[in-house]
Amino acid sequence: MTNQGAHQAAGQAQDIPGRGGIWQRPDSLWEATAPPPPVLPALQDGVQADVLVIGGGFTGLSAGLHAAEAGRRVVVLEASELGRGASGRNNGQVIPTLTRPDPADLIDRFGWESGERLVGLIRDSASTLFDLVRRLGIDCAAEQTGWVQPVHSPGRIKIAERRATQWGKFGADVELLDRAAVSAILGTDLYFGGWMNRTGGHINPLALVRGLAAKVVAAGAAVYVNSPALSVQRRGDSWVARTPQGMVTADSLVLGTNGYAATIFPEIRTEVVPVLSWQMATAPLGDNVRKTVLPGRQAMSDTHGDLRFMRYTADNRLVTGGALLNPVNGAERLKRIVGARLAGMFPALNGVGFDHVWNGRIAMTTDYFPRVHRLGPNGFAWAGCNGRGVALSVSLGRELARAAIGQDPKDLALPFTAPTPLPFNALLQRIGPLKILQYRWNDAREV
Ligand SMILES: Cc1cc2nc3c(=O)[nH]c(=O)nc-3n(C[C@H](O)[C@H](O)[C@H](O)COP(=O)(O)OP(=O)(O)OC[C@H]3O[C@@H](n4cnc5c(N)ncnc54)[C@H](O)[C@@H]3O)c2cc1C
Repeated sequence: MTNQGAHQAAGQAQDIPGRGGIWQRPDSLWEATAPPPPVLPALQDGVQADVLVIGGGFTGLSAGLHAAEAGRRVVVLEASELGRGASGRNNGQVIPTLTRPDPADLIDRFGWESGERLVGLIRDSASTLFDLVRRLGIDCAAEQTGWVQPVHSPGRIKIAERRATQWGKFGADVELLDRAAVSAILGTDLYFGGWMNRTGGHINPLALVRGLAAKVVAAGAAVYVNSPALSVQRRGDSWVARTPQGMVTADSLVLGTNGYAATIFPEIRTEVVPVLSWQMATAPLGDNVRKTVLPGRQAMSDTHGDLRFMRYTADNRLVTGGALLNPVNGAERLKRIVGARLAGMFPALNGVGFDHVWNGRIAMTTDYFPRVHRLGPNGFAWAGCNGRGVALSVSLGRELARAAIGQDPKDLALPFTAPTPLPFNALLQRIGPLKILQYRWNDAREV
């Protein structure tokens, strides 16, 4: 993969990627409440770096930070504004597990050595994120209150047992919860038990993006916004990226574009299917209500495929959301659907209003495993968070940086596989929302 064509989209996009469309500023609570970003330029020159990072989300900023802290000259290119991809739009739940694969699945897939390293990275990923926030003093409303997964049918207690047992064996701080314990944690008796990981929690994700970016710059890296890499090629011993007005030449490359990839590396862009997920924030809840709903302020996401999830903000809003078959008039419809769902779970929330509704693209893979790649000499990437990428992308960003600065990937938690582009990706994106029907069918059945 050394020619320019391999890394450019067929028929280069007419529009500059990163502007408008999927990158438009969302009406999110995070845009309304995060501290302002550092003021950063667009690239307008030719620059040299040891490490070129493409993507200004958690992956790219974590990679940029770790490479810069190791003394390397780092350039980060962001196509749009920092956090305009999934990192600034998500629910902010810091969850140290994957969506579906459990430790045994990871070891089956990647072998003992590589699989165990990845299990260790995921096990530690929430603490890694919260420790980083504390070490750098980033103001992002971080609350390490734990993450809980309640089960929505009696038979699904098997899922909680399996996960608590497997993660417990690998040293994670987990606990299996019976029905009474879950009811006390959530403030509803609709669930049949569950499990929790005490190292999880939640953050204001855009505040973390912006705070991290300021620290990346403080560590000596150059971060450019509105600077999409339009092409990336391997020339001699270097990676060369062109932006609309500039060029970067670097020894190593980290690609962190995930579900918001523009233009380059089509083989990675098309191995994930971006699926729209809707987020919404209630008005701030009064103290009396707050004490009865999720009183311990954990992050919560349950076992439904049509996921129920929620977490508090610093000013006591619940941030929740859902999935829609049809996005038309989605915000208004979701206010009704999710409002009724919340009232069904918590009568105290009957009539609660929503101040913000927004959405974002989650990079899904067909088997729910993340993909980690070598792009060629000193080039590394990952994609496919499947909705569990806040903690994971910070940790994988660090590992990709370590590989990019010369650590032997054999010693890192990077289970490389070859890219697996999906031949009918555009079609899958169109029919992707139909998957919700299958989820709902499964959700209504016992396992
Ligand atoms: C609505 C929603 C809710 C979610 N909720 C949660 C949650 O609660 N917990 C959880 O663990 N995970 C959640 N996720 C997943 C999580 O947000 C992602 O896994 C994570 O943010 C991925 O970070 P990233 O840096 O890899 O990718 P992104 O944040 O998507 O960043 C990719 C960046 O690359 C840039 N880019 C693309 N192409 C180029 C180019 N050619 N040149 C330069 N820059 C480029 C994009 O503009 C973008 O900023 C959610 C995702 C969404 C969308």
